[in-house]
Amino acid sequence: MLDAVTIGQIAAGEIVDRPLSVVKELVENAIDAGASRVTVVLQGGGIDLVEVIDDGSGIAPADLPLAVRRHATSKLSIAQDLERVGTLGFRGEGLASIAAVARVEVVTRTHDAQVGTRLRAYADVVEPPEPAAGPIGTRVRAEGLFDNLPVRREYLKSASAELTRVSAWLSSFALAYPQISFTLRHDGNDVWTMPATDDARQRLAMVFGRAAAEGMIALDTGAAASLRGSLAGFISAPGQDRGDRRMQVLFVNRRLLRSTLLAGAWTAGYSTFTMIGRHPYGVLFLDLPADHVDPNVHPTKSDVRLRFANQTLDVVRKAIATTLRGHATTRFADSAGAPGLSFAPNSTHGQAVELFTTGEDDPQDVPGARLRVLAQLHRTFILASDGEGLLLVDQHAAHERIAYETIVERAQHGAPSQPLLVPLLVELDAAQAAALERALEILREGGLDVEAFGETTYRIVSTPAGYGSRPFDLRGFLDDLTEDPKQRDVRERVWASLACHSVTVAGERLEPDEMTTLVERLSRCVNPMHCPHGRPTMVRLAPEDIARMFKRL
Ligand code: ADP
Ligand code: MG
Repeated sequence: MLDAVTIGQIAAGEIVDRPLSVVKELVENAIDAGASRVTVVLQGGGIDLVEVIDDGSGIAPADLPLAVRRHATSKLSIAQDLERVGTLGFRGEGLASIAAVARVEVVTRTHDAQVGTRLRAYADVVEPPEPAAGPIGTRVRAEGLFDNLPVRREYLKSASAELTRVSAWLSSFALAYPQISFTLRHDGNDVWTMPATDDARQRLAMVFGRAAAEGMIALDTGAAASLRGSLAGFISAPGQDRGDRRMQVLFVNRRLLRSTLLAGAWTAGYSTFTMIGRHPYGVLFLDLPADHVDPNVHPTKSDVRLRFANQTLDVVRKAIATTLRGHATTRFADSAGAPGLSFAPNSTHGQAVELFTTGEDDPQDVPGARLRVLAQLHRTFILASDGEGLLLVDQHAAHERIAYETIVERAQHGAPSQPLLVPLLVELDAAQAAALERALEILREGGLDVEAFGETTYRIVSTPAGYGSRPFDLRGFLDDLTEDPKQRDVRERVWASLACHSVTVAGERLEPDEMTTLVERLSRCVNPMHCPHGRPTMVRLAPEDIARMFKRL
């Protein structure tokens, strides 16, 4: 027989697996309670403490003990209602699940109460409620996540990784609720605040960054007329895309979720407007009659099943395609004859490629043969063959060279950089801040946009294209910059350092097509043989070298 505590922990395990799940449940409750201001406070990435404070309806004292019991929900009376939920929570498992794995304290006050109520719950113990001072609304603290389940606690990532998850989720979530202000605090510092606004575009700028938001197109909703429901959103203009899908934010009935099908429809809408392997970004709000959606397929409600899925996906695809076509026509009319709308599909995906057609360093050493990636060695070198000899490519040096040339090229053409979904906050010391101030303009030309955000805090708003979602080490970058006096040209130095910090490092596992792309792009560099710091990017063993090793020559 399992005891009540264990049963509770097992059920909770489905819902609460890391600090982010606690944040999700509590923030959704705050929204359901009609809050206009939601503050999320974390300590130790949320492992030590998650606290969510709202100014919503509050919970009446009599209802409070029930609220932390499993399947106690005020939002659902009969089972059939599961088909028609308008609120974010509906199963009455959120608070109970959190209390099963963390020490919970709720302080709450309804608008008609003179004084608030406090309740503590942990494992299967729910203490009796007691009067407590507090403003109207609710404050829930969850302390010591998985203190009672060391195995699950081990599975958590570092505090900063957990914080990043929470920050990414909360800022995406905020896109659907511009009239609500959101604040995220961590270890006593403000991470970010998004003031309430009536203007959806303003919230867009807070989340995607100003430059990216300006380039986004409001979705043409004409195509959605056939939909029983509605579709709205903002999408990136052609050419403004990214190497991953992390900036495709999707809401179905104001619920933030991942859906491979919908993401596929999104990309399909761009068809010829985007390159293979590149992904448009933006936010879509799909509202469907509640009985067309089953949010109940996933314990954390992060995926949905759609009824009439094909029609819905089709509408999404068409709306995006129509929007882009409309945009292309206006752009063309604006600037007749101007280039910018030719998007050649990239066809090198996973195939043999031409190597060294533009090699400059040692033309006699670089045969124009076909290249094939064979393996990755020690997660550091790429082993490839050009049909004759063997090539050993240093993945970091190669990537650095490619990034460097991309940065230089972009700087010369003033191409837009890649906005971050969550601006990255970095604390700098005085020397680093000074180095940053000196390099700021050059960095911006190279695609790294950093702005001051408080006294010693800066935020990275965008990174150079091709940089993807790698965490950018601004501090390391600035230290490098102060330490490396040899190079002559400041621009060159800043960009070389930028390239170095924006790429694959040794020790990183690469997928076969990533390696192919890397080697292929290296081959198209102006100077493919050396990284911007002068180290070799590759070594070639010619057939004669190999023959000599076997004493055949
Ligand atoms: P659910 O959200 O699925 O109903 P929860 O366990 O998350 O279940 O919450 C249980 C109940 O507690 C909710 O139905 C709601 O009545 C009440 N509640 C929880 N959090 C809040 C809050 N922040 N403000 C007001 N009421 C809340
Ligand atoms: Mg809930």
